[in-house]
Amino acid sequence: MTNSLLEMRDLEVAFTLGKQDYPALQQMTFQIGEKETVGIVGESGCGKSLTSLSIMGLLPGTAKITKGEIRLDGKSLVTSSAQQWSGVRGKDITMIFQDPMTALNPLMPVGKQIAEMALLHLGVSRKEARQLALDMMAKVGLSRVDRLYGDYPHQLSGGMMQRIMIAMALICQPKLLIADEPTTALDVTIQAQILNLLRDMNHSTGTAMLFISHDLGVIREVCDRVIVMYAGYMVEEAPVEELLDHPRHPYTAGLLQSLPGADKRGRILYTIPGRVPPLTGRRTGCPFAGRCPSATAICAAEVPQMKKAGEQHLVRCHLVAG
Ligand code: SF4
Repeated sequence: MTNSLLEMRDLEVAFTLGKQDYPALQQMTFQIGEKETVGIVGESGCGKSLTSLSIMGLLPGTAKITKGEIRLDGKSLVTSSAQQWSGVRGKDITMIFQDPMTALNPLMPVGKQIAEMALLHLGVSRKEARQLALDMMAKVGLSRVDRLYGDYPHQLSGGMMQRIMIAMALICQPKLLIADEPTTALDVTIQAQILNLLRDMNHSTGTAMLFISHDLGVIREVCDRVIVMYAGYMVEEAPVEELLDHPRHPYTAGLLQSLPGADKRGRILYTIPGRVPPLTGRRTGCPFAGRCPSATAICAAEVPQMKKAGEQHLVRCHLVAG
């Protein structure tokens, strides 16, 4: 890994429901290096999006950071004031979402929405901001950008809107781009184009990326390293090829087994039995114990710690010898 850009250390986030706090993220410790692309994968409700919202300082009102640290370039975000955090957001760290239609302002021309980011964070004139927006629109593969600049979101296809979101996210040359399921709402052909674009932009601009997905196939295409999350915990982390070819955690193995493939044509796809426990129904012990085919008595009693299972491979499982 290159020099550390973002560092999350022992982060815990809890939701307050009634008078009780329910931990939603626990023992989150990872780093993202400069120019690196790190993936986070897991089913819905595992804490992937909450992790990214913690970094953005955009946790919902009922959630709070109860422990730990997030540092960008060595500076604490957790102890930053709301004003300092909003200076980082949109400039040093930006985000693209699953559904651009709900993320874009329906009442403002798309080009102007990109230019506004430059106006807000780069201290340029309106004329310069417009030119930067047009250049960025061309860079993300949009054509006839002079005309497109004045169009509204509803006039664009899903793929074009996602390119507008990417242009908005990259115009200030952020250090870190968070992409939260950016291709889930797109058809397969456009999905491949957007993944290629994100990979190219990562190489050409050097912007590091945190890529969130439930799809291990997509993660393989884009990421250098991957973190698997389950019920608010990181359960496995390794370079992408190592993790996908040699999974050590039973949950990762189950996710891989449930991927479709040419060799599985005509067969019923495997699904991991059960589902992710809800926030209010989480027990002590290994978070995966209720669904794990290898669980033993200790699994229900003690939360396993992350242990080394190889040079750069970490696993949270009692069965893995440290
Ligand atoms: Fe399964 Fe136990 Fe390992 Fe958890 S600690 S993944 S329950 S074997």
